[in-house]
Amino acid sequence: MTLAGASSATYAELLEQNRRFLWNPFTQMKDYLADEPVVIERGEGVKLVDANGAEYYDGNSSLWVNVHGHNRAELNEAIAAQLEKVAHSTLLGMANVPALELAERLVELTPARLGKVFYSDSGATAVEIGLKLAFAYWRRIGRPEKNVFVGFEDGYHGDTIGAMSVGGIELFHSEFAPLLFSCERVSFPHAYRFPGSEAECADASLGELETLFDRDAQRIACLVVEPLVQAAAGMRTMPAGFLREVERLCREHDALLFADEVATGFGRTGELFACEHERVEPDLMSLGKGLTGGYLPVAATLVSDAIYDAFYGDFAELKTFFHGHSFTGNQLGCAVALASLDLFERDGLVARVQDSARFLSRRLRAVAALPHVGDVRRRGLMVGIELVADRETKRPFDWRERVGQRVGLRARELGMLTRPLGDVVVLMPPLVTAREDLDAMVGILELAIMDVTGS
Ligand SMILES: *Cc1c(COP(=O)(O)O)cnc(C)c1O
Repeated sequence: MTLAGASSATYAELLEQNRRFLWNPFTQMKDYLADEPVVIERGEGVKLVDANGAEYYDGNSSLWVNVHGHNRAELNEAIAAQLEKVAHSTLLGMANVPALELAERLVELTPARLGKVFYSDSGATAVEIGLKLAFAYWRRIGRPEKNVFVGFEDGYHGDTIGAMSVGGIELFHSEFAPLLFSCERVSFPHAYRFPGSEAECADASLGELETLFDRDAQRIACLVVEPLVQAAAGMRTMPAGFLREVERLCREHDALLFADEVATGFGRTGELFACEHERVEPDLMSLGKGLTGGYLPVAATLVSDAIYDAFYGDFAELKTFFHGHSFTGNQLGCAVALASLDLFERDGLVARVQDSARFLSRRLRAVAALPHVGDVRRRGLMVGIELVADRETKRPFDWRERVGQRVGLRARELGMLTRPLGDVVVLMPPLVTAREDLDAMVGILELAIMDVTGS
């Protein structure tokens, strides 16, 4: 292998490097290496190009992060311009220009209760920070008995220990159970598998939450929720009005509300933030993924001034929040995040997402009619298509058949990359995706589903 690196390497050489040196995340390496994996070399707009020159639609926005397409001149230039000044300096005990400007923009754009920004570098760290702040907040204001977190079953908030603790995905989290702190969990209002109407499903979850609060409010510090769409659980959508009711119960019982908008933030659901759909004002909000347009790893935890104030005082009071990361407030990341927000404004992108979502909703009817499609769930440009063995009984496929995975592989052969969540096929196109490309993407999924399920 030469020092010239990937650009001169053949596909076979790259695979060999992968086999010998790289451990891919959330990936069974044995299957992966047997399977001629895709090695991406470049991207352009809504497409990615691999080392063999094959082009694919980026059907899940590179794991839900991409917003404006790849290799966008405006974003590239923002990074290059910042690079001419400085790539990174610390935010510990000092500040930098783009981090300040971005903090102001984020506070302006997010719900009014949120007044301060704490940066980090991934969704999981943004969640972790929020959990530590919520926990410490109650101690700072003299109510240390409020130290219990509430999460939703099948929630996903990232892979660090705290984020796993409030998450609830068996397959990912159960092995680590002895390391996790205990949480209260209520069921997510997942109407598709609920024996009753959507309204009854929402009422059942709210009833659980109310019972929990009635019993334990004096111990509950904070409720953590993925607003509107429980993404990793399989793009499960909340019944309308549910989030609002969750907020009401939190207020009534003096619990902090923590909206994890890592997946839903930045236009994905058809508003800039999912909380806006129901005018919900959380006390904490985590942001990541689309924050930099999907370019660089910057995340943020926004908190209310009340939380900030609980940590504000003379040094000797020891109220300081002793937490930070080496790359907190990275300039290149903040610069590209600012350029991304400029593009949202200039292109009227949120309105365009609403328009694209209406088109997608019509276009997905054909998919919903396929014999092994049990449920098509969508909010904005977040789509989950649940495949089932039997539509009538909603009986799932045997998980060992890996139907979702096979649909993903077939879609790849047909020219689109996406990664299923079990047997839920995901479509999460970059927000800028044009109508004809959305149409083509759905067409590929339709065909892939038909080919794999034999219908
Ligand atoms: C992806 C995700 C996270 C974790 O973000 P990472 O950047 O992968 O650490 C947290 N919360 C939600 C809702 C997510 O979808």
